[in-house]
Amino acid sequence: MSSLHQTIADRLFRAPDHVVVGAFETASALTARELVHLIMELGAGPLAGTKRIGVLSNQRPEAIIAVLGCFFAGATFVPLNPKFPKERLRKVARLAGVELILCDQTTSDLAEDFGLASVDISKLRREAFPAAEPQTRLSVPDTSQPAYMMFTSGTTGDPKGVSISHKNLASYVAGITSLIDFPCGARFSQLFDLSFDLAMHDIFVCFATGGTLVMPTALDLMMPAAYVRKKKIDVWFSVPALAASAGKSPGKEGDHTLSLALFCGEMLPRDYARSVMTLCAPDAEIWNLYGPTEATIAFTAHRFDEAFDTAPDVPIGHGFGANQTALLESDGTVNEAPDPGSEGELLLAGPQVFGGYEPQHASPFLSVNGTSYYRTGDRVSVSPKGYHFRQRMDDQLKVRGFRVEAAEIEAACRAHLSMDEVAAIVAGDESQTHIIAFYTGGDSKPEPTPLEAYLPDYMIPRAFHRLEKMPRNANGKTDRKALKGLLS
Ligand code: AMP
Repeated sequence: MSSLHQTIADRLFRAPDHVVVGAFETASALTARELVHLIMELGAGPLAGTKRIGVLSNQRPEAIIAVLGCFFAGATFVPLNPKFPKERLRKVARLAGVELILCDQTTSDLAEDFGLASVDISKLRREAFPAAEPQTRLSVPDTSQPAYMMFTSGTTGDPKGVSISHKNLASYVAGITSLIDFPCGARFSQLFDLSFDLAMHDIFVCFATGGTLVMPTALDLMMPAAYVRKKKIDVWFSVPALAASAGKSPGKEGDHTLSLALFCGEMLPRDYARSVMTLCAPDAEIWNLYGPTEATIAFTAHRFDEAFDTAPDVPIGHGFGANQTALLESDGTVNEAPDPGSEGELLLAGPQVFGGYEPQHASPFLSVNGTSYYRTGDRVSVSPKGYHFRQRMDDQLKVRGFRVEAAEIEAACRAHLSMDEVAAIVAGDESQTHIIAFYTGGDSKPEPTPLEAYLPDYMIPRAFHRLEKMPRNANGKTDRKALKGLLS
């Protein structure tokens, strides 16, 4: 029996009139009673007997109903981001073996393109249980299927599926809630698209601690400081770039302040952490979380201390909960208790680490004395504050928090723009990064339009630079440093 199901079910049962999803545009707020009703309706109806469910929903209450409906039905939910190209979504649905699509009123037309059965969550009955009737309890489902499956950019040119089990997810929620004191009944931000695994933190930590998830409107996303004050957000969670804009953006309405600000996904510059302090209560905590999708949301954490964290980047800290870390040093030794001053590739093990890619990809695991470590590809150093992120050891890029394999963009440019050699790099300042492609062969003025059918917007190069020859380093590999130099 998964204790996470039990915890969330108990919270919802105990306070049936508590608002669990804040009002969103024209939709009214959703109470625990209504949410339970909808989860049960989904479980008894469309989700009965299904294993893999595509959730095609814009950041709306319907997405939350769909995710929790799948969670309590024991079905795996696979986020299908409506902002991504149709071709990519169809590929993901095929690779994941999606049997049914849950959509909302804004995505029901798109859902028809999949050639699968679909259910519009907006049309489910929203009537509450009669107040006098005792609320029926949600039961714990069979948890043998993965809880969710996220698709990340893949080096082969196709997205790769990361399946996260109920045990992985429950371990994360147990670990993070023992480390950080989330105020009971807090109002949580929900700034990530469902296809970003950090959205799972918002949903599951919020419901496990009896909170309210406050969905932002399009305007809220443009004015994050106003969102915090007007919508009385207590717990903020975003990529670092949003911290910079939140700290600077206007938002004088009300004097509400944050009690917790959490960041993850990219290096957290000290200046960003300081800028978000303008939105925080004097005793608020600011945390830098680190982790790959493969190790469930976040794996290490560090609490920012303005007086002591004087380096330009905030450390990523120590593994929390039952998480084990080690260093793969340059001579090939695995150091399970690295001293300050050590450097190497960060290795992760423990109950949060996934079992392998679907469909199968090269194994990312290293077995050491019976422990299976996940190789992150992240170079880190060690200090008394824990780990410090240094750089990626491969060609994986981060664009505004999104993880991208350069190889996937390069393969798309070769296939759809008829280029010979392509190298994609990230350019722009930290708060507004984008992709630039260098290439040989092909058209002298390439139009990126054909890429729009295959790649999400953030993966499409903003500019193309044609070269006679690709620069090479001593190993004969594309010299990406030299390419960056060409931009300055
Ligand atoms: P994703 O799977 O999209 O969550 O991306 C995981 C990768 O993002 C990690 O392997 C790191 O390269 C990077 N990352 C995540 N959190 C941090 C952080 N706090 N600081 C630096 N890099 C991070």
